[in-house]
Amino acid sequence: MQKLSVGLDLGGTKIEIIVLSAENEVLLRKRIATPIAQDHQTPLHQYQAIVQAIKTLIQASELQLQRKFLQVGIGIPGAISPATGLVKNANTTCLIGQNFQQDLEQALDCGVKIANDADCFVLSEALDGAAKGAQSVFGVIIGTGCGGGLVINQQLVSGPNAICGEWGHNPLPWPQADETLLPCYCGKQGCIETFLSGPGFEKQAARHSSVTKNDDNLFSSKEWHQALLAGDKNALAVFDNYARQLAKSLATVINMTDPEVIVLGGGMSNIDFLYQRVPEFLPEYVFSDQVFTRLVKAEFGDSSGVRGAAFL
Ligand SMILES: [Zn+2]
Repeated sequence: MQKLSVGLDLGGTKIEIIVLSAENEVLLRKRIATPIAQDHQTPLHQYQAIVQAIKTLIQASELQLQRKFLQVGIGIPGAISPATGLVKNANTTCLIGQNFQQDLEQALDCGVKIANDADCFVLSEALDGAAKGAQSVFGVIIGTGCGGGLVINQQLVSGPNAICGEWGHNPLPWPQADETLLPCYCGKQGCIETFLSGPGFEKQAARHSSVTKNDDNLFSSKEWHQALLAGDKNALAVFDNYARQLAKSLATVINMTDPEVIVLGGGMSNIDFLYQRVPEFLPEYVFSDQVFTRLVKAEFGDSSGVRGAAFL
């Protein structure tokens, strides 16, 4: 029987599974919505609903392929604390403090390997994606949250705190006087994530809109992008400002790690304007006479994370 690699990506809005053959052929791919917290529910309810949803997804996939999975790699928007074995730093906050690995191994009756979703993403892109062949790759997810990971010589870099690449919870560098510092789920305010994640972008962009929607009904990043493509001047100003903020934030990463390639993933990475505009801003902020770091879009789009999880 051929060896299968099973990867699962748990995101803020979707859970995706992929099953690869020994030759990395896609044998199966499914996607479901991530259970969200209902008004009357506690975080524990949402956590249990997520475990149950993953169990249902795995069982349906096993049934379809007529195979029992022995090992599943899972990318999560957080990390396993080396000190406690419990989830920390998770943007899907109901995971925080849970023994996710043990709970999943019990629920799925198989081995589970958990890694940070941005680490899975950059591993996939560095091994056979948009940054294939590069010696040093910084991968960035700008989606529901704002994660990152570093691969050097095809190896994920990980340290004693399991936080390598967590640029999203640094403060936005070189802030402008009119920049609004919003609170972040991590307990601080003004984190890069509160500007560059999809929800962060939507909140910040609302300040540039003359049409007022209420706070829970902001224009989505997709609506802003459509306006940009239609030539709307307001949208151009919003994305120009966003590109500058992204360039500033990446400049500090380049100053620290000097990567050959930076790969962008997550929903906001689909905005093509960024690949032209961010490199124009970078030389203003990087401590170098020239910037040779390439900024590229993920080859496997939002499936990179799940591929990387399968490679775990
Ligand atoms: Zn933060």
